[in-house]
Amino acid sequence: MIDPTGIANHSLVFDYSTLPREFKRRYLPRDLNFEWGDLNRVYEELGTRPLGSEPDLERWLLDEAEFDAYLYEQRAIRYFNSTRQTDNPAYTKAYEEYTQLLEPKIKLASFRLLQRYVVSQFRDQLPDSTYGLEDRRRENAVSIFREENVELEKKESDLSQKYYRTTGAMTVSFRGQERTLQQMSKFYEGTDRALREEAWRLSSRRALADSETLDTIYTEMVGLRDKIARNAGFGNYRDYIFVKKDRFDYTPDDCEEFHRGVEEAIVPLSRDIDRARAERMAVDTLRPWDLQVDPGGREALRPFDQVPDLVSGARKVMANVDTELSSYFERMVDLQLLDLDSRKGKAPGGYQEELAEVRLPLIFMNAVGKDDDVRTLLHECGHSFHTFLMGKAMLPFFNGGANMPNEFSEVASMSMEMITGEHYEGAFYDREDARRSNWKEAVDNVKLFTWVATIDAFQHWVYTHPAQTKDERVKAWVATFNRFCGLESYEGLESSRAYRWQRQLHLFEVPFYYIEYGIALTGALAVWSRYRNDPKDAIETYKSALSLGCARSLPELFEAAGVEWGFGPATLRKIAGELRSAIKVYGE
Ligand SMILES: [Zn+2]
Repeated sequence: MIDPTGIANHSLVFDYSTLPREFKRRYLPRDLNFEWGDLNRVYEELGTRPLGSEPDLERWLLDEAEFDAYLYEQRAIRYFNSTRQTDNPAYTKAYEEYTQLLEPKIKLASFRLLQRYVVSQFRDQLPDSTYGLEDRRRENAVSIFREENVELEKKESDLSQKYYRTTGAMTVSFRGQERTLQQMSKFYEGTDRALREEAWRLSSRRALADSETLDTIYTEMVGLRDKIARNAGFGNYRDYIFVKKDRFDYTPDDCEEFHRGVEEAIVPLSRDIDRARAERMAVDTLRPWDLQVDPGGREALRPFDQVPDLVSGARKVMANVDTELSSYFERMVDLQLLDLDSRKGKAPGGYQEELAEVRLPLIFMNAVGKDDDVRTLLHECGHSFHTFLMGKAMLPFFNGGANMPNEFSEVASMSMEMITGEHYEGAFYDREDARRSNWKEAVDNVKLFTWVATIDAFQHWVYTHPAQTKDERVKAWVATFNRFCGLESYEGLESSRAYRWQRQLHLFEVPFYYIEYGIALTGALAVWSRYRNDPKDAIETYKSALSLGCARSLPELFEAAGVEWGFGPATLRKIAGELRSAIKVYGE
């Protein structure tokens, strides 16, 4: 049953087999099942097929890419289902069976194919423009692989689970209800200062109660990661991860330049914003619970009531941005690829995921009627447009989810988030509220830069000082925090500040994944700035850059989007100037 808004009734099982299959299989059997016997037959064929010439190798790569897309889509379906209905045991079981039974086998078998590829004498004859970057990625992956690290990585992922279990169990009882710390964050937007303080202190105390457990987990993780790096022949884990993450286009030094640029250009702006905030709120000293509320004392923005209103608002916005992109949005609505409402049993958060074989995107989120929900949907739409445009381009390594560098995929999403903000008036808000929303977005971007610098600089220190004691680590954290922080005072809250890093899950779960947001934000702001000057041209270059998929280097992708590659002090000074004037204009 489909309701007239086109939003699926997700209490029903979503039937993926009804999705249009425009991209026909050329290699895989039509009746392939997602179970090891069938998959293994494909791996065996790819593992033994004679590769006696350059055309043989190219055919083999394309067949492997088709297989990868299939595997990626099957994983995505199981993940999507399990997050849509966490209380459906069949979905949970299907995803667990995948991660525990199939995924380790798939990883190993795929790695054997990589090894087969890198020893092929015909590698050098493949056309560089199509396969060059992929060739480097494969070479990289094989060069850092060490048998003895497999066991260490398993231990690392056990510790990861332990982190999730510890933080997932953090709840507090507030106003007669048990709430997660994530749910508590909504109280920081409330206009009652005493209530905000109470909520903040309660959450902070709860998090601190586990600080020692989390500290021990982190110490073990840092030790393990250092060992993994040394086994692979690196002096430290930072240098190892730059290779592992295929960071061909920038170095640790470039990241340090980014930190310096943020400190010089963005931090002063961030502190000016806080100064103005304190003045508007008429408080002598800002406290950590004063940073989310509207400084004018107005209630939080309410852009829509029900999910169908969110969809119709987004539809209006997209129609003003571009006809082609708008048609992609309509397609997602028609095919019921949006799961937007917040409901019992649904996992928290939001994401876009690709169904790589049918080359269609899925969007998952928990909309409750907040300004952030509109931003989230339009952000994920940016990722979806990437999926549509890459699919259309018929790239051999369409499997962007696995290969697409986040430094660029987040340009696609963040810039769409800002571009669409130009069209909120009449779709979600009146003029005043539209400006308020855009003011908040600009301020959030300033704060995001400072937080990215904090988290990234801290990790550089952590992994280049693997013998650190817990005290030394806290000292290094506080120094890093103070280098980039705003004007809020932590007087009497020193231990909350000292362990604030433990709440950033990336530090535990995906080490060194954070600078990507900073790099992408520089690109996204430049695309947005181009859009404000010449919307038509900016959208055309946006679309052509997205259709390049991951077959180009980061500087080439940025250039295709019409923006300069670089995230050092000079770029950040320019950005700070633009953000400062946007904040002034929207804030008036
Ligand atoms: Zn994103």
